[in-house]
Amino acid sequence: MKQIIILIFISAVTTSFSQRDFAKDSTMIRNIFNESLEKGHAYEDLRSLCKDVGARISGSASAEMAIHWGKNKLESYNFDKVYLQEIMVPHWVRGTKEEGWYKTPDDKLHKVNMLALGGSVGTNGTMSGEIIMFQNREELQEADPAKVKGKIVFIAQPMDQKMINSFRAYGACYPIRGHGAVDAAKKGAIGVIIRSLSLSEHDHAHTGTMKYEDGVKKIPAAAISTNDATTLEKIIKNTNGTLDFIFEMNCEKLPDVKSYNVIGEVTGSVHPDRIITIGGHLDSWDVGEGAHDDGAGIVHSMEAVRLLLSQKYKPKHTLRVVFFMNEENGNMGGKSYAKIAAEKKEYHVAAIESDRGGFSPRGFDCDGNEENVLLLQSFADYFEPYFLHHFKKGYGGVDIGPLKDEYENIALFGFVPDSQRYFDFHHNHNDVFENVNRRELHLGAASIASLIYLLDNYL
Ligand SMILES: [Zn+2]
Repeated sequence: MKQIIILIFISAVTTSFSQRDFAKDSTMIRNIFNESLEKGHAYEDLRSLCKDVGARISGSASAEMAIHWGKNKLESYNFDKVYLQEIMVPHWVRGTKEEGWYKTPDDKLHKVNMLALGGSVGTNGTMSGEIIMFQNREELQEADPAKVKGKIVFIAQPMDQKMINSFRAYGACYPIRGHGAVDAAKKGAIGVIIRSLSLSEHDHAHTGTMKYEDGVKKIPAAAISTNDATTLEKIIKNTNGTLDFIFEMNCEKLPDVKSYNVIGEVTGSVHPDRIITIGGHLDSWDVGEGAHDDGAGIVHSMEAVRLLLSQKYKPKHTLRVVFFMNEENGNMGGKSYAKIAAEKKEYHVAAIESDRGGFSPRGFDCDGNEENVLLLQSFADYFEPYFLHHFKKGYGGVDIGPLKDEYENIALFGFVPDSQRYFDFHHNHNDVFENVNRRELHLGAASIASLIYLLDNYL
């Protein structure tokens, strides 16, 4: 039975393939790339988002500014409709104090590069305690509580250098950041520090979201730079004496606030009721400028549609560009967008997300049924001249993910750029405009525009 179904899928895809005008489509895609590389707007739009607005964590005044920026930008292009979608978002602030030291057995203090994890409580003045080190989450979970009680847990787990897909290495380490504070508090620890999630050895600490659990004491949680973590780990291993960690943070969670997703729409000329969503997230962490994460995704989405319109292309489906709010610490933008779509009984056929940085494009993941994956793979020849070779079943993205709960057969596509340098910049002070390359960014925008064009014609 399964074989018959697969055969039907293959024949459906090949039928639509035989109806394609490969030369015409290829010319269109060539023109999209030419426009993007020669006259593209993505880089300048990203410069403006990074420099005129800057870091923009949910609930902040700069996030509010980013919403105005996004609305104004979309209105400056030829969208038929630009509007805001109201949502509620969490509001966490880093505060004004954030410092950490460790004390070596010779009584010397060594300052570390440290960032509170997003959502962490403060230390309520200075907090100090003996460090107890664990190599990974499992080791902490199996520890004798008597040995952890009253101490500051240090989880030294590094991202696995051997993994070629850096997102996999990140995913494997994510639990120490997401759940380290709960695991440590359950054993009686008073605080937790983790090695930053990065494949680079450098002095930047990387923040990111963390969670508490009802009924478990909320303890402060911070990340220290990979360089500091490596040094600290060596000292702990080489010394028999005890080491203290001292830190002070006055970050706190404030009440939820009103915010918005920003939406620009081009009405479909043949199927106005069928919607293709293209998006990234407008919020960022509160350090750096949110350039790769996810300013790149914002300008990719907007520019992809602009590139199509620049070719006098009239989309058959309704194309909806969405600047999602609050991906980083709650995903209220993505969840609300899908819920409102279902309530309005909208018809969503596909969605594309760019949230893996502005690096050289490699291809797309497809989170969909077998037919959707085969359709994506049938586009491979169009992308061959641009060195895109990755067309696989995979992950769409955090913001478009909730659409799948409402639309079982929707095809979700995740833009896949080269991932080797992404975690050099992810959630740290170095995620700035200067670390994005114009050409790589523009190749990405053209790739997304080309996928939209192909989906619009062959979905
Ligand atoms: Zn992101």
